[in-house]
This record gives sequence, structure tokens and C-alpha cells, in this order.
Amino acid sequence: MAEFTPQPSCADPQDQQSLNVEQARAHIDTLLLPISSWQKLALREALGHVLHQPIKSPIQVPPHNNSAMDGYAMHSSDIQADSFTLTQVGIAYAGQPYIGQVAKGDCVRIMTGAMMPPECDTVIMQEHVAVDGHSITVHGTQNPGQNVRMAGEDIQQGDSVLPAGHRITPADMGLIASLGIAEVITKRRLRVAFFSTGDELRSIGESLEAGQIYDSNRYTLYGMLKRLDADVLDMGVVPDNKAALKSALQQAAAEADVVITSGGVSVGDADYVKEMLAELGEVNFWKIAMKPGRPLAFGKIQDALFFGLPGNPVSVMVTFYQFVQPALRKMAGENPQPLPLMQVQTESAIRKRPGRFEFQRGILFENERGELKVRTTGQQGSGILRSMSVANCFILLDEECDGINPGTIVTVQPFAGLV
Ligand code: AMP
Ligand code: MG
Repeated sequence: MAEFTPQPSCADPQDQQSLNVEQARAHIDTLLLPISSWQKLALREALGHVLHQPIKSPIQVPPHNNSAMDGYAMHSSDIQADSFTLTQVGIAYAGQPYIGQVAKGDCVRIMTGAMMPPECDTVIMQEHVAVDGHSITVHGTQNPGQNVRMAGEDIQQGDSVLPAGHRITPADMGLIASLGIAEVITKRRLRVAFFSTGDELRSIGESLEAGQIYDSNRYTLYGMLKRLDADVLDMGVVPDNKAALKSALQQAAAEADVVITSGGVSVGDADYVKEMLAELGEVNFWKIAMKPGRPLAFGKIQDALFFGLPGNPVSVMVTFYQFVQPALRKMAGENPQPLPLMQVQTESAIRKRPGRFEFQRGILFENERGELKVRTTGQQGSGILRSMSVANCFILLDEECDGINPGTIVTVQPFAGLV
């Protein structure tokens, strides 16, 4: 494991364990090993999987010269300045080529996508033609080669169409099918085990006694992991005691590539958690100069990567999206680009104190003039999970920022796009 040198943070100059967001990401990167095992999948099964090998085209696309219009296929050498007349000798439909010769002065009625007769190189739009029996008269300016899609103009045989490391989207499914490819070689799915810690937690279906709450983190984690197409192992709630925690961590690490826990990593949490993690592997406890999500434990337990996320429900989601998700994507074999950011004017005032980088929850919306604006979801407590539910973006606020007035341009990270 790479040596980890704690960096002092501007948030707390006394605190040698404090890191900023970028430093935490960089350290996580040093421990990531992409999965090497692979499998062959039928195309439909491959949605959301990561390609182990590039997709190379076994054919050229389009496979033959074809018409881009409904019209008449002809020899460009027959084009004359103002108008000219040709004799129609046959019809070519998509999938039903015209079989026969097309002599000079002849033409073939042709439909969009139909194969061009080999002698023809030009298509006249049907709107430019007056038909009289088998004789057609062409009006208007015509250019040699017009309205023809050439064989191989999209893709040449042997071209690499999708690189290794690409996660297959619905568009890719169609693209791969268009090449006649029925099976693809993808990375094995990442196996992720997770559990919640806390004596106060009950699972849905159980009744609540005084002081108890329902465990929500296992559900947000399940959802976020499923979106990454991970193979998930939900290990339930583990009480705050050493033996239970130790055996859960050992079992999780034995069965999964990645282990994620929530809760139990704050400063106030029992020291046995740290002791035990030191026995099981190499785990660092970080205080990240961010809000929410200040405490984070990260390292290895046996051969598994370990993320000990904070317990607060919003902190779980923010630390997952900012650290765990990019790490899992790299381990799955992807080369993820940083999520796109946008500069947008805020309609609301934003409260913040200098010191930590904040991921506040925001709502991007269009105002009555059709302009894109953002406003906060209101209360930003790290236990208010509803703020994530109503939000559609994070508002990113630098360490130094000490509050923002309405009308200021802010950086936002939208939650979702079309894929
Ligand atoms: P902890 O990090 O364990 O100190 O937890 C911080 C806060 O998050 C406490 O209020 C916990 O009750 C709450 N919390 C921890 N785990 C969960 C969970 N799985 N679901 C909902 N709330 C949780
Ligand atoms: Mg706890």
C-alpha cells in the first residue's frame, strides 16, 4: 500500500489528519486496481457493463452505396444545365436492389436506403422530377454524386468503434447491433458488500422503540451501487460492538472487491473501531475539509478496498458521489471523466462559513424568462435526506467562500444527464 502523508489543511492548521477533497481523491487513486477478469455476454445482457476489449467493426457501414432520398438513380455524366429527360428502367427498394444494367440516358426509381445500381453515382430528388410514363424530366440544378451515402462512410471495416473501458449505453447497444455483433466481452461486475453500523438502527419492517431510527443508508447505498451496475451484497445492520463488527468486516472483505460501511467513523466513536481496523488491514481515518462528509475512513481490509463513510444520510451520499463512485468506476475498468460543472446564477442567498469545501444541495430551474438559475433546497443539515431527494444538483462552494448573495454566479454539478 502506498504511504500516506497527511497534509495540513487551511481549515484547521492544528489538525495533521485533515485533507482537502483533491488530496483525498488523489490518495484513493493510488490504491485502485482495475478488475482483470472478464466474461462474454449476449448483447442485451451487456447494458451497463464495461468493455474489456474494444469493439472493432467486422463490416463497413453502410455496407453498400445507397440512396439518401426517394428519387431516381442515374449517371452524373447525364446531367445537363437546365432540364433533361431520362428513361426509367426499373425500381430499387431498400433491401430489394435493382438487378440489371443502367445504360447512359437511363435511370432507376430508388427509395431511401436502397442499394445504388453499380453504374449510378447520383440521385435526383423525386420533387425535381416530372413523370410521364417511363420518361422522367428533371428540372433545376443537379450536382454529380448528390444524395448518395457511400459504403463505409460511417465506419470502415476494422475500425475501433468503442474503446476498452467504455460503459455500454443504450446508444452503444444499437451501434454494436448495427455491426452484426451478438456477443461482447466485458469486465466482470464489481462485487460490493455494505452494511450499516449503529445500535440505534432498525430495518424497515421492524417497529421502533424509544431512541431508535430506521436505517436509510443501506437503501441509498443500494440504489447508488445498482446505478453503477455493481453486484451488491447487503449485509444489514451491525451493532456497535467489536466482535460483531469484526466478523462482519472479515466476511465482507472475503466476499467482495469493495466494502462500504456507514457510521462509526466520527471523532466521538469508540476507539475499538480504529484498533480493529488496524488489526484487519491498513485503514486511515481522515478528516476531510468538506461539508457534509468530514470523517471518512479509507484503506484496505485483506484484499478488499474499504470505505468507512460517515453515518449521516446526506454525508453518505455526498461522500459516495465525490469519492466512492469515481473509485468504483476506475476499479470496474472505466476511465471516468470528472463530472461536468456549470456556472449558473443563484436566485437565493447561500449561507456558508469559511473553512470547508461545501456540497450544498440545489435545484436548477428555468425562470419565467427561460433562463437557467439555481436555488438552494433550504436547510443544509447533513441529516436532512429530503434535501437530496428534492435537489437536482450540488452547489459547489470553495473553502474560502463566506456566503453568497442572490444574483452571484456559482458552480453547480448537475445530478444526471441522458445516457
Ligand atoms: P455516526 O457517524 O455513527 O456517529 O452517525 C451519525 C448520525 O447518522 C447519527 O445521528 C446516526 O443515528 C445517523 N445514522 C447513522 N447510520 C445511519 C443509517 N444507516 N441510517 C440513518 N441514519 C443513520
Ligand atoms: Mg453510529
